[in-house]
Amino acid sequence: MSREVLCRYCITAGFGFRPMTKRSVDTEEYVCLGCGHRAQPDNPHSLCACSRCESVERNFLAKFRNEVRTHEFVAAMPSKC
Ligand SMILES: [Zn+2]
Ligand SMILES: [Zn+2]
Repeated sequence: MSREVLCRYCITAGFGFRPMTKRSVDTEEYVCLGCGHRAQPDNPHSLCACSRCESVERNFLAKFRNEVRTHEFVAAMPSKC
């Protein structure tokens, strides 16, 4: 059984997303030779420790913090005088 796992970050001209390479026969982990991203076929959208996933996580956390700050700001606003 061979399933193709595609890198979520690398796009090769004419081929779409770059197919990832199986790391070894006894693991279901795939690695992208282009950017180092790793993924499992059952969980293709999980984040790994590669630099691109880290920046995704950073952006997400930054956005999350901004939203929390906005909520706090709204909550701190006086609703009645
Ligand atoms: Zn890649
Ligand atoms: Zn990654």
